Amino acid sequence: MSKFEHYPRRFWTSSRALRAGRRGTDNHSMSNRSISRRRKTQNEWQRRIARAEELCAQYRFAGEILRFYLVIARFQENFYEELGRSFERSSAGAGRVDSEPFRRPLHPELTNRFESFLSVVEQNGPDQLREAARELQDGGDDSHFQLLKVFWNGTETGPLPPGPHDFFACAFLQPYAAGIRSRSSVRWSGPTPYRCPFCKRKPGLGVLRPLGDGGQRSLVCSFCLAEWEFRRIVCPGCGEENPAKLPVYTAEELKHVRVEGCDSCRSYIKTVDLTKSGLAEPIVDEMASIPLDLWAQKQGYAKLQCNLLQL
Ligand SMILES: [Zn+2]
Ligand SMILES: [Zn+2]
Repeated sequence: MSKFEHYPRRFWTSSRALRAGRRGTDNHSMSNRSISRRRKTQNEWQRRIARAEELCAQYRFAGEILRFYLVIARFQENFYEELGRSFERSSAGAGRVDSEPFRRPLHPELTNRFESFLSVVEQNGPDQLREAARELQDGGDDSHFQLLKVFWNGTETGPLPPGPHDFFACAFLQPYAAGIRSRSSVRWSGPTPYRCPFCKRKPGLGVLRPLGDGGQRSLVCSFCLAEWEFRRIVCPGCGEENPAKLPVYTAEELKHVRVEGCDSCRSYIKTVDLTKSGLAEPIVDEMASIPLDLWAQKQGYAKLQCNLLQL
């Protein structure tokens, strides 16, 4: 695989810096043991934030992306905590677990925090998102709710096109989606699901977790962040099972992230290999390994599903 060259499409137009970062994946000052100890006490957002802070220092090529992700993740963490408290209050009265939470209509009250999310992006985002945040701020509550509702109902009415609006809705609603998913009673059986068993969106990345001598593959939802087991030699885009048509690429600089391509549908997904780096946080490491996306797209593969930052 060739060296890292340009920033990708959409919001990230700067051509700076990808050539800069070529440092190892796990060489930082804290020992692995102290990091594992710390992680046991952190919630999922805190772990992602800590990992993004570590990688900011290690991967200069992803610095701009990770710094913006950190701002978003900190907002999401606070919102997740707030929502958690309100879930506790409402379920204490209702005492039931929902089996189809993603089919329920979105509650207008959720928009209360959208304004502050827009301000966060307006102050910290790349130019195109700042501008879009300002336009949305001018729109007022009704238009905000409309936007969130279109995204929420996307699996029935069709997704929003990739771009600023898709980013705002997905990033803002993600803590809510993760919260109701973790409290739901959804169960599935039968063949491996190609879409998230909870919210029915496409997977955004894969994970290999240590299992015996190898790795167990799972997929992670691009929206509610659910993780579900998935057969190892199958394309999550089209179901291709012929190993000769499912090439896997890795780069010397990022050994723990695989590009898994499919020569039938020409899609690819990145998989974070925890058998190679136990310190990785899949969502963050997927985002940080942006040079692999550039490489895959140059080879003519299209990403199965963009990540939160539309990369
Ligand atoms: Zn989902
Ligand atoms: Zn395929």
